[in-house]
Amino acid sequence: MELNHWIAGRSTPSKDGDRLDVHEPATGRVYAHVAAGGAAEVDAAVAAAREAFPAWSALRPSERARWLERLASALEDHAPALASAEARDSGKPLRLAREIEIPRAIANLRFFAHAATQFASESHHGEAGLNYTLRSPLGVVAAISPWNLPLYLLTWKIAPALAAGNTVVAKPSEITPWTATLLGEIAAGIGFPAGVLNIVHGRGPDAGEPLVVHPDVKAVTFTGSTAVGRRIAGLASPLLKKVSLELGGKNATLVFADSPWRTHLDVLVRSAFQNSGQICLCGSRLLLERSIHDEFLAAFVERAQALRVGDPLDEATAMGPLVSQAQFDKVVAAIARAVDEGGRVVSGGRALAREGWFVEPTVIDGLHAGCATNREEIFGPIVTVQAFDDEAEALALANTGDYGLSASVWTRDVGRAHRLAAALRVGMVWINTWMQRDLRTPFGGAGASGLGREGGWEAMRFFTEPKNVGICLENCE
Ligand code: NAP
Repeated sequence: MELNHWIAGRSTPSKDGDRLDVHEPATGRVYAHVAAGGAAEVDAAVAAAREAFPAWSALRPSERARWLERLASALEDHAPALASAEARDSGKPLRLAREIEIPRAIANLRFFAHAATQFASESHHGEAGLNYTLRSPLGVVAAISPWNLPLYLLTWKIAPALAAGNTVVAKPSEITPWTATLLGEIAAGIGFPAGVLNIVHGRGPDAGEPLVVHPDVKAVTFTGSTAVGRRIAGLASPLLKKVSLELGGKNATLVFADSPWRTHLDVLVRSAFQNSGQICLCGSRLLLERSIHDEFLAAFVERAQALRVGDPLDEATAMGPLVSQAQFDKVVAAIARAVDEGGRVVSGGRALAREGWFVEPTVIDGLHAGCATNREEIFGPIVTVQAFDDEAEALALANTGDYGLSASVWTRDVGRAHRLAAALRVGMVWINTWMQRDLRTPFGGAGASGLGREGGWEAMRFFTEPKNVGICLENCE
């Protein structure tokens, strides 16, 4: 299978014919080739987006909303194909792709279709006059997204940008290019205006960097690792471009003895191992009140061991492989390092003896808060366990480290829930639940986990240029 760029509404190979191998994580074998873009493809895509901008930005919001609605409906029509493409190239269980990620990708488009017609800006009546904020689209914007939730995170970026009247050049991860290619194809199939949404595949340094520094690209919205986020910020800031960064995490799950944890064990296990732990919001540090440490750990390990690890296309599979050889090597090395740091593997800890990049769900106890395993993002099916004696210690452990993406708190004590929600240095907190998402609320992290966290139609604000307009109403000086 050959996967091409989508530029100006057309499937476009790279000018020099360069391609990259795309692997199936479940086997490690090459199943497709994707066009490898560089500066030439970025130039062509940005030119197409620039040409499409005047007409797209001149549409009424309700007309842009109709296009986004039509795109959402077309994705819905192709949902089974999108789900199996995502399971095949990312290695996530088909059920997860079908039941959560593809529907959420469609919901992103629908939400911002509605938001386009709800978008508002502020006005202020002063002593004598009126000041209002005029918000215009920026022009061409870049959206760079990772491999872990390929279509969901891509649509989370492009939908608000398009709704606000911008045209987009997207660079998905070259590790999981299939669903983005299908998105281009489906958009072309419904006659989506050519050049409004362009997709350039390729490696980050080859395709991503030329896109970030392109003089006609006015803003960059990026989701990925903190290291690459810093690099992008370093490139874009001197050029005075707007940058939004959704970055890595090292999220804590705080379980108190008073919580109904036994009834929530499935969610707690899911929060650790969903998508093989390759979700930025997964809880990778399990903090347990000391009095329940042993009982909780035994029950948690039993559930983790019951997770069926295997072929993502098998309906019974709960956990698939890691996405790539590089990710597999990183996770295996992280387990060895945890043991070197004094950790005790209480469950899992090994790669599966079969083809593909499978690692068992792994639970490691006995590490101190400051070790590398507890501070660095691993992005795999590894959870560490620490015990705490009281709320203050739980908070201090949770707030250790540079990341600040999300946390979940499990308690029946409402006062404690509110205190911790306020004191945890993160962008998102869940109480007695995990990954409960409402698109109207802020999404993103604090500290090394990112910059820019608007939700709802405010997410569209990032993609606009605000201008103050002051009008004299009467007797102005
Ligand atoms: P990544 O290596 O940072 O890559 C993300 C995207 O950036 C990919 O499309 C990548 O292309 C591109 N890229 C790499 N180097 C670049 C450069 N120099 N200039 C421009 N673009 C460049 O991240 P990943 O490994 O794909 O994803 C995992 C990370 O994403 C984890 O840290 C995870 O926590 C984070 N994440 C955060 C959120 C959030 O909402 N906060 C959500 C999901 C994931 P290539 O694929 O070619 O490298």
